[in-house]
Amino acid sequence: MKLGDLPIRDDLRGRTPYGAPQIDVPVRLNTNENPYGPSASLVGDLAEAVRRSAGDLNRYPDRDALELRRELAAYLGHGLAPEQVWAANGSNEVIQQILQAFGGPGRVAMGFEPSYSMHPIISTGASTEWVAGAREDDFGIDPAKAVAAIEEHRPDVVFLTSPNNPTGTALDPEVIARIVGAAPGMVVVDEAYFEFARTGTPSALTLLPDNPRLIVTRTMSKAFAMAGTRLGYLAAHPAVVEALLLVRLPYHLSSLTQAAALVALAHRDELLGTVDALRAERDAVVEWLRGRGLTVADSDANFVLFGRFADRRAVWQGLLEHGVLIREVGPPEWLRVSVGTVEEMAAFRAALEEVL
Ligand SMILES: *Cc1c(COP(=O)(O)O)cnc(C)c1O
Repeated sequence: MKLGDLPIRDDLRGRTPYGAPQIDVPVRLNTNENPYGPSASLVGDLAEAVRRSAGDLNRYPDRDALELRRELAAYLGHGLAPEQVWAANGSNEVIQQILQAFGGPGRVAMGFEPSYSMHPIISTGASTEWVAGAREDDFGIDPAKAVAAIEEHRPDVVFLTSPNNPTGTALDPEVIARIVGAAPGMVVVDEAYFEFARTGTPSALTLLPDNPRLIVTRTMSKAFAMAGTRLGYLAAHPAVVEALLLVRLPYHLSSLTQAAALVALAHRDELLGTVDALRAERDAVVEWLRGRGLTVADSDANFVLFGRFADRRAVWQGLLEHGVLIREVGPPEWLRVSVGTVEEMAAFRAALEEVL
């Protein structure tokens, strides 16, 4: 029997799952993880928190993750209250809950591509029609064109990724404000890479007080170096959080996850301490690639989109043969490399020299 023989929903037929390859090679620069693992002392604190939490594993976790939301609100600042913060298993689950509450059959979600591939995939999974708007040649969003597209399609949910994946482009809050003003429904600004943005880049959190239909999502998967923990979160009007309570599964965030995330927040100075080094390494690889005559998108994230290659698959494959895994993603002639350690980036540059 094959998948197509099952009575699966018609709108899922022929779809392909999210599939960044997980290949065991020496240099993995393909999923924008932070390359620096936790220190031995942080590992010790995590183990201790899990040990304490384990004594209560016969009980369900705090269903509303109150302590964690308090600490996340304190981390975000901007005068946010815990009632304005929500957390789930990765920002992907946060996004899924947003679509369950504000999307659904007969409703439309929209994004401006190239952008994060999970936004359309999660929308489809939530039976929400996906409409793809377009970014400009420099991967920015033209506010007038975006407003026109929104007026045409009347989306219930608009996704804006800033800094954008896979291009690295940060949006001006004025562009976001124009889009929020035009959108008839919710606007989600996915700030998964915000901590990597150049100093002075404003967060969409600054727009929250005036915009109850705005949602800003963040994650511990990237700058926080906690991808394995699966902890994403959002900030929004308290009524938005109330809406999400209607669709979340009870006890969705395990006590072990909550305990680990609290330890991570307590050690945020260590975990975020690698961000400056990664930004410097990013800027260095941008310069190096440009020096090699390649086209490189400006990046406010921990990855760099570069090209253009008539046969990008050959370049990707060539790098893989040298033990360097990057990502074949974005517009057809481009490739994306995550920023790794100094040693990993040296290996990437050496391998690319060979391949080119
Ligand atoms: C990596 C990434 C996320 C993170 O997803 P998690 O589920 O939190 O790991 C969210 N949005 C974008 C744009 C990303 O690139």
